[in-house]
Amino acid sequence: MNEKQELLALTPKELEELLLSVGEPKYRAGQIFPQLHKGLAPEEMTNIGKVTRAKLSEVAAYHLPKVKRKLVSALDGTVKYLFELADGNCVESVLMRYEHGITICISSQVGCNMGCKFCASTIGGKVRNLTAGELLGQVIAAARDSGETIGGIVMMGIGEPLDNFDAVVRFLDLVNRPEGLNIGYRHISLSTCGLCDRIDRLAELGLPITLSISLHAADDETRSAIMPINKKYNIAALLATCKRYFQKTGRRISFEYTLISGKNDSREAAERLALLLNRSLRTRTETMPIHVNLIPVNEVKETGFQRSGTKAVKAFAAVLEKNGIRATIRRTLGSDINASCGQLRKETAEQERESE
Ligand code: SAH
Repeated sequence: MNEKQELLALTPKELEELLLSVGEPKYRAGQIFPQLHKGLAPEEMTNIGKVTRAKLSEVAAYHLPKVKRKLVSALDGTVKYLFELADGNCVESVLMRYEHGITICISSQVGCNMGCKFCASTIGGKVRNLTAGELLGQVIAAARDSGETIGGIVMMGIGEPLDNFDAVVRFLDLVNRPEGLNIGYRHISLSTCGLCDRIDRLAELGLPITLSISLHAADDETRSAIMPINKKYNIAALLATCKRYFQKTGRRISFEYTLISGKNDSREAAERLALLLNRSLRTRTETMPIHVNLIPVNEVKETGFQRSGTKAVKAFAAVLEKNGIRATIRRTLGSDINASCGQLRKETAEQERESE
C-alpha cells in the first residue's frame, strides 16, 4: 500500500488532484482546505458527507501535533507548548503576546545538527526533519488550543530551518494562502546559523520574509569556537552572502548576537562588530539598514556559559548605536517558564527515561 498523503502538506491544487483520484469533485477542495487549516480533521467537518470523508481517510491522513505539555507564564501570558508528532517525537513552540499581536515561534527539526555550543536543541543531534505539514501543524494546533489569531511567525525554535529547505519553503507557501491562515510573508522571520548556499537559494525565491542571521561573534576565531558552521562558511563568506541577499530582495537583514559573559561581550567586541558590519555591508553610496538583536544567553546547564550582566549588555548596545547600527536588547518573555527553546523537550525526554 502507498503511504498516505499528509493533508496538511497539500496545496489547494494538490488537494483537488487527490479528490479527483478518489472520484470526488475537485470543488470540494475549496470546502476542505480552509477547515484543515482551522484545525479540523475530516471527521469533524460538517460540510462534507460521510462518503467523501471515508474516501479521503483511505488515501490521506490528518496529523495535527498533540499538546503534550503546556506551560503558561504568569508574568506575560507567553505559552510554551511541547507538541507530540504522529511518530511520538516532540518539538516545542512558543506563543508570544506583543502589543501588535500574537506571534508564534516554531521548530523546524526534531533536534539539530549544527552543534552551536550554547544551544540546548543540538545536544542530542538531529533526529529528523519536520514535514511541511508538521511545520504548519504547530501554528494551527497552537491557534486552536489558545483560541487566538496568530499574526506572525518566527522560525527560531528547535532546528536549522535552512537544513530542511524544501519543507520550509512549502510551509511558507501554505501558511501564506488566503484560503488558509493567510499570514503575510512580512510577518514571518526565518533565523539561520548561516548556511550560505541555502541563503542564496532562498534569495532566488524572492519571498519578502525577514531573514535573521545568528552571528554571535565578530571574528572567526571566536565564532568557530562557539558555532562549528563557521568552519564551513566563515564570517566574510556569510556577510558577502547577506549583501547579495539584500541586493536581490531589498529586504533588510537582522543579526542576532547572543551575549555570553567573558566570551563575546566586551567593549572591544562591540567595536569590532560595528566595524565589521559597516565595512562589509555598507559603502559610501549604499547604506544598508542594519539591525542587531542582542540576546543575553539563556543559561543551559550542560554548556556552562553565563549571561552577560545588564551593564555589559547596555554598554554593548551603546557602542553599536554610536556607530550607526540599530541595536535592540531582546525582551525576555516567559522567563518563569523557561521559554527559550530546546529545554522543555530535553527535560521531558530525560524525565521519561528516568521513569521507565
Ligand atoms: N538554527 C537557527 C534557528 C534556531 S535558534 C539559527 O541558528 O538561527 C534561534 C536563535 O536562538 C539563534 O540565534 C540561536 O543562536 C539562539 N540561541 C540558541 N541557544 C541559545 C541560548 N542558550 N541563549 C540565547 N540564544 C540562543
